[in-house]
Amino acid sequence: MIRVLIVEDEKPIAELVRISLSGAGYRCTCVYDGLAAADLIERENFDLILLDVMLPGVDGFELMEYIRPLGIPVIFLTARGAVNDRVRGLKAGADDYLVKPFEIIELLARVETVLRRYHKLDRVLEIGGLTIDVSSRTVSRAGEEIALTKKEFELLLLFARNPGIALYRETIYERVWESDYMGDSRTVDLHVQRLRKKVGWEQKLRAVYKIGYRLEVDA
Ligand code: CA
Repeated sequence: MIRVLIVEDEKPIAELVRISLSGAGYRCTCVYDGLAAADLIERENFDLILLDVMLPGVDGFELMEYIRPLGIPVIFLTARGAVNDRVRGLKAGADDYLVKPFEIIELLARVETVLRRYHKLDRVLEIGGLTIDVSSRTVSRAGEEIALTKKEFELLLLFARNPGIALYRETIYERVWESDYMGDSRTVDLHVQRLRKKVGWEQKLRAVYKIGYRLEVDA
């Protein structure tokens, strides 16, 4: 499932966006200030961030400097008429912007366009020598299908959709097992080890000290 972080201090807007995106099948989390957003981005993994410009504490532009190195796509939410904000947002590395108030249909279209650009919605991914078909949930290498368990497939997909990003064990656990991480890293470690062997990613799925794992593939 695609995870979207909504950073917006106007709660009715945040809630409207959350309901609309949830209805379209996205998994959404809302935060209402910049610091809480930074904390969450550090701990969890998101596929897209909707970022309000004017926020209490750390504002959207400051937060953008922090997000940019992580490679997570960002759509800025700007106030009507604030042309400078839009220009500044795009210059800061945002992928798009929406002017408030916006139509839900426009929001959904922009979100989909940005996710497509980042291959987040691709049904077939070619990565690290593998062909991953999300619809049929099959994986193959050079035409040879590789049998994976359900969890192994989810794990593979998580790495494939976030190449180059160090994923925390906690994040991995919560996204693949869809329950709260209780601090036991063995489940994740064991599954990563098995996955590595099965798909031949011994050199690609690297342990990141004190964090978790990162998929290293050539662009
Ligand atoms: Ca605001």
